[in-house]
Parts: sequence; C-alpha cells; structure tokens
Amino acid sequence: MSKTVAFIGLGNMGGGMAANIAKAGFVVHAFDLVQANLDAAQAAGCKPFTCAKEAVDGADFVLTMLPNGAIVEQVYLGENNDGLLSHVAPHALIIDCSTVAPANSRHVGKAAQDAGIAFVDAPVSGGVAAANAGTLAFMVGGSERNFEAAKEVLSAMGPNTFRAGDIGAGSVAKICNNMLLAVHMAGTAEALQLGMDNGLDPKALSEIMLKSSGCNWSLEKYNPVPGVMDGVPSSNDYQGGFMVDLMLKDLGLAMEASTGSKSSVPMGSAARSLFNLHKNSGGEDKGALDFSSIQQLYKN
Ligand code: NAD
Repeated sequence: MSKTVAFIGLGNMGGGMAANIAKAGFVVHAFDLVQANLDAAQAAGCKPFTCAKEAVDGADFVLTMLPNGAIVEQVYLGENNDGLLSHVAPHALIIDCSTVAPANSRHVGKAAQDAGIAFVDAPVSGGVAAANAGTLAFMVGGSERNFEAAKEVLSAMGPNTFRAGDIGAGSVAKICNNMLLAVHMAGTAEALQLGMDNGLDPKALSEIMLKSSGCNWSLEKYNPVPGVMDGVPSSNDYQGGFMVDLMLKDLGLAMEASTGSKSSVPMGSAARSLFNLHKNSGGEDKGALDFSSIQQLYKN
C-alpha cells in the first residue's frame, strides 16, 4: 500500500513539491489556508483537506513548507499544545522544509521528541523552478536514522540530500549558504559595475572572470547584468527567481544566529545593509524583484 504524506503549505515552493511527491506514488493529503492552492494541488493529484488536523491523521510523513519560524511553531505547537503535534501519528516522521531560525527547528524538534515523534529540519536550496522540476537540494538536521527515513520522500523532490548534523543543523547550513550567496552576488554586481564604469563590456568582463580567480556561482549561473546571460531573471526585468524580500529574511536569520553564537559576520552584515538599501531605493519597494537586481543599486 502507498505511504501517505501530509503536506502543509502549498505556496510557490510547496505546490510543486507536493505535486512531485504525488507523482512519485505517495498518497498526498494537502492543506493550505488558500483555496486556490488547494485546487491546484488537487489538479496535481493530491487529496485536498480543509483542516490540517485531519490531513495529518494517520499520515506516515508530515511535511511543512511555511513562510517563517513563527508560523511553523504555531502550526506544530499551537497555543496550548493543541497544534499538529498532538494529532500526528506516533510512527510518523515530521520533515520541516521551511527556512526558519535554527532555534525554531530545535524548539519544535524537542517538542516532537518529547511527544515520541521523529523530526528533521530539511530546508532547501533551489527556487520555485527547482521545486517544480524536482531538482531541489535538501540540508537535513536530525539523527542518522531519521535522515535515512526522510530520504524516501525527499528523493521525490530532488536528487541531492545532505545530513548537516543533528536537529537544527539543516537550518544552520541553509542560512550560511544564503549569506554567502548574498555576499558573492553583491560582490559580482560591484565588480561588473566597476568594469562597466571603466569602459568594459560586461559580457567580455564576465567571460574573463569566469576563467579567472573571481569565478563564482553568481557569475556562472546567475549573471546580474541584463543581457549578459539568457534565461536568468536579470534578462527578464528581474522577474521570477529569488525575491529580495526572501534574501532579506534569510540574512536576518543569519544575523540572529551570529548574535547567538557571537560570530563576526561583517560581510554578511554589509550584504544585508546593501539589500535593505536596494529594497528601499528609488522611491519604490523593490522587495519583489529577484535578488540579482542588487545590480541596480550599483548602477544608480
Ligand atoms: P509562499 O508564501 O508562496 O507559501 C507559503 C504557503 O503557506 C502559502 O500558500 C500560505 O497560504 C501557506 N500558509 C501560511 N500559513 C499557513 C498555515 N497556518 N497553515 C497552512 N498553510 C499556511 O512561500 P514560498 O515561497 O513557498 O516559501 C515557503 C518557504 O520556503 C519559506 O520558508 C521560504 O523562505 C522558503 N524558500 C523559498 C524559496 C523561494 O524561492 N520561494 C526558496 C527556498 C526556500
């Protein structure tokens, strides 16, 4: 008999992820607060539920892809321990794929463990296109045993699954990765603008740096200057991709974690200021643009 996955949070990311799990042969119990998202999930082969508690009832896996840590805590713990934890089957494995603070993962993970329920945090790398295509990478925090068990479902959504350590470690890996992404995207935009301001063609400069020591992922896969690369957000008015607001959320989580661990993060902190400055520049909120639009800050 097919195993059941309860999937909570069918937004930009969760919609495609739930569809891929259904495609892999699992029975998917789908829940979201938005009816249109439930309809889309149903069209993709999931069974829609109008109540989260009913969706998780008897499920072998419970997956969440929610906006932030406060909502994840609210959904699992509730106000007076009336959250989903008290409705999840004892044999179930909870997999939280949302991007949250490591402290949120540890808090919910501890409550799950206290209730005798297995938990891993498993945030993702890759955006909406990767969620739809089933090519996400997962950074997992949890025991070796639960990591192995989670792979059964995670492999339906992407080929690359890594165990970063115990509960919370997946969330730490995610914010470290995205802090570095912000730094090299801002640095790439800065270097390309310096070249253009000094008469260079950004395409020629990109080709040179791709074969030189400045080569990095932003330059290679996601060039921020319009027209240099086809099929990336910069060549589509910075639409689609990974929003400035989401990058700012992740940089906020990185700053929070650095405060807790007393780590120095001057580059991450500068990147956060730059993205904030960019979001509020030019008299309009640029939070919904792709994050490579940081190029505009340098251009202006
Ligand atoms: P989204 O806002 O599109 O989707 C979130 C969904 O959760 C919405 O459909 C919303 O209705 C639903 N929701 C909110 N509260 C709920 C509740 N109490 N019960 C049930 N459903 C509820 O966001 P998204 O872009 O899909 O991002 C989801 C998570 O993935 C975030 O943590 C984000 O940081 C992370 N992430 C996003 C991207 C990206 O490119 N969009 C990439 C990597 C990670």
